[in-house]
Amino acid sequence: MKFEKISLKILEKALNTLESGFKALPDIEHNYHAEKIEKIILDTAEIMKNNYPYFHPYYAGQMIKPPHPIARLAYMLSLWINPNNHALDGGRASSQLEKEAVAEIAKLFGWSNFLGHLTGGGTMANMEALWISGKTKPDQKIVASEQAHYTHKRISDVLGLRFQSVPCDEKARLDIPSLKQILNKGDVGTVVATIGTTGTGSVDSLPEILELKKQYDFRIHADAAYGGYFILANNLNPHTQRVYDCLHKVDSIVIDPHKHGLQPYGCGCILYKNPNVGKFYKHDSPYTYFTSPELHLGEISLECSRPGASAVALWATQKLLPLVPNEEFSQGLSKARNAALALYEKIISDGRFKTIFPPELDILVWAPNGGSASQISKRTEEIFHAAAEDNLHLATFKYPSSLLKDKWTDLIFDHQDVICLRSCLMKPEHYDWAERIWNILDNVVK
Ligand SMILES: *Cc1c(COP(=O)(O)O)cnc(C)c1O
Repeated sequence: MKFEKISLKILEKALNTLESGFKALPDIEHNYHAEKIEKIILDTAEIMKNNYPYFHPYYAGQMIKPPHPIARLAYMLSLWINPNNHALDGGRASSQLEKEAVAEIAKLFGWSNFLGHLTGGGTMANMEALWISGKTKPDQKIVASEQAHYTHKRISDVLGLRFQSVPCDEKARLDIPSLKQILNKGDVGTVVATIGTTGTGSVDSLPEILELKKQYDFRIHADAAYGGYFILANNLNPHTQRVYDCLHKVDSIVIDPHKHGLQPYGCGCILYKNPNVGKFYKHDSPYTYFTSPELHLGEISLECSRPGASAVALWATQKLLPLVPNEEFSQGLSKARNAALALYEKIISDGRFKTIFPPELDILVWAPNGGSASQISKRTEEIFHAAAEDNLHLATFKYPSSLLKDKWTDLIFDHQDVICLRSCLMKPEHYDWAERIWNILDNVVK
């Protein structure tokens, strides 16, 4: 295969345009060490070969999606300026682009009067959300499902907030009766609803959680780091669609442009429905330089320095691929889900595998047949390695036996987890490659 390199020509043109904005300045001497640089960079390229081919459809493993070429270009272009979106003095243009890009994301959820900004990633964004939870509901617990991202527990610990895990139902969603029992104790401040779990892409039953909120007063934080963009998909199942239809009712949302938003790593996003939470961020940093009456993003962010380049890349991507239904970006999400459904169909119609439930988003978890949990885990590892030998890269996932007992009733559960195969079919091209992916699997699993 060949890398896309045409964009490098566009980059040079764009750099000329950018450079012309500074022509009034006297020239500076660049001391390049060109030969040394070339040698080191070529060595670096050799070293970087030691990676899975994340950018190729045969990489169907972890949550890794290549950035769009326009995101790469815009990011690289920004590096000649290296703006810092902490304050307007550090990045005037890129701060404006961040505000515009984030407003586009908020619009996805129907929010126009909101507070939000980009973060280093989903973990930082969730940390801000839970920090606000602690401020608005002091001394009260954070609860999230057992399949919620593992960082919620750790973040709560960092923030000095109590945390409790809620059991999951057979679809790996937060179990509503168990939540109700916990709410009855009267000390829950925030319920984290995971909109697409990292393991299986399960979407918690938000309408039921919203119903409980009427009776017990708690905040709802939607961790849609992975699943947020699927609000644009047009092929969700009815349960999932119902959740997205009421997502606008939560108090805060985390969505990761570096997961499904075609961005390089370093781009998460936190959104608050009520802009008043901005008061908790207010600070008096002696390092902050205020020269503009306009908002400095550092005033509403826990992080200080942040890459303006991330905002520029996101803004440019959204210009090319607007976040609207039934256009290229949305169709890419529907296609990713169709890829997961296509592979699921192949797997269930074949006698050699076990499935758990149909993919809710574009993540598929399945396992080879076996008599016991440990036998299946062993076979999974073998298939994982054999497929990789044939250039097909899958992931594995430790599925709790407790969630499988009612599903795989004839299995001997001799271990607390069953290691399963897992594929995040995040690239639209995965749909067109589903047949070829299946052929490799078919070949590997004799
Ligand atoms: C990926 C993910 C996170 C963590 O986000 P990072 O960007 O990796 O820090 C949190 N929650 C969910 C549901 C995720 O999928």
